Amino acid sequence: MTEHTHTTCEELLDSLSAYIDGALAPELCRELEKHLAECNNCRVVLNTTKRTIDLVQTPLEKPDLPEDVRERLFKRLNLDDYLTRKSK
Ligand SMILES: [Zn+2]
Repeated sequence: MTEHTHTTCEELLDSLSAYIDGALAPELCRELEKHLAECNNCRVVLNTTKRTIDLVQTPLEKPDLPEDVRERLFKRLNLDDYLTRKSK
C-alpha cells in the first residue's frame, strides 16, 4: 500500500485549479505535490489541466495585433484625435 496522507485524489482534484492559479495555501500545495509525486493518475490530470489552461490563456496574453502594428495604430489614432481637436 502506498503511503498516502489524508489528501484523497478527489480532494486534490478539487483544489487543482486553485493550485495552478497559485491561489492554494502553501501547506496544501506541499500536500498536493507530495501526493502528485506518488499518484500517477493525479499527475496526468494536472498535466492535462495545465495544458488546457495554457491553450485557453494564450489568446488572452497575446493581443490580436502584433506589437508594432498596434503601436502604429495607436499613434495614428492619437494623431487623428489630435488633428480633429485642433481643427475644431
Ligand atoms: Zn491521486
